[in-house]
Amino acid sequence: MLFDYHLHSDFSADSKMTLKDICETAVQKNLSEIAVTDHHDIDYQDDQIEFNLDKNKYLEELEKYQNLYADRLTIKKGIEMGMQTHILNQCDQYLKNDFDFIIASFHTAEKKDLFNGDFFKEYQQWEAYLRYLKSILEVVDNFDNYSVIGHLDLVRRYGYYETTPDLMDNNKAVELIQEILKKIIKNDKGIEVNTTGYYIGNGQNPLPSIKILKLYKQLGGEILTIGSDSHSKDQIAYKFLETIALLKKIGFNKLTTFTKMKPTFYKI
Ligand SMILES: [Zn+2]
Ligand SMILES: [Zn+2]
Repeated sequence: MLFDYHLHSDFSADSKMTLKDICETAVQKNLSEIAVTDHHDIDYQDDQIEFNLDKNKYLEELEKYQNLYADRLTIKKGIEMGMQTHILNQCDQYLKNDFDFIIASFHTAEKKDLFNGDFFKEYQQWEAYLRYLKSILEVVDNFDNYSVIGHLDLVRRYGYYETTPDLMDNNKAVELIQEILKKIIKNDKGIEVNTTGYYIGNGQNPLPSIKILKLYKQLGGEILTIGSDSHSKDQIAYKFLETIALLKKIGFNKLTTFTKMKPTFYKI
């Protein structure tokens, strides 16, 4: 059974896929379940684009598609929440108990955007990476309303440095990643394996990297979702079979789906 737990419809400003496109493609690709996870980023610091989700309309549409596809595809109400340390109460108020599945993602740090490069302007490469990890740690220490952390090592995709080292290549980063993962595990949360790593950048690793996934396994991490982070039809379930084979090789033997924030485990 295949589940894609990270998909963007045209409710996200950076996707043109309709919910119908997503559902049809998921059925064609033999997926049994999907979570649609459109963006909501509160206090996002890029003037060029807004990630504001009209929650009521979105949930209403998802329910419509849940009914339309009831005999073919399980559709979960998900969201990708852009987390920042100063908006945790606002995130809670927005999310309430309205979703099956919440990805907590870090598209910014210290109120600055990764994608447009603002966050990296004042820092050396590793300093930027460490500061990014610290902001994730602060959030997992103080926030509970999420299912998994999205693309944990996203920071190394941006900054436009000459190299994109694995975050596990630096001892201070390893310590921070360990603290983050321990906290996630203790709080019964998980991480996602995001397959954009195979189609954006150098293409060698999913996000997070294999080294981080190995550490998560060593520390006892069990809650793991897999998502393509698709913004177009061809990306849906991208490299899932290879990724599942990789996860098995690392030692994982199950994947997770969510219903009303409660995990269900499936053997892989
Ligand atoms: Zn994201
Ligand atoms: Zn996404």
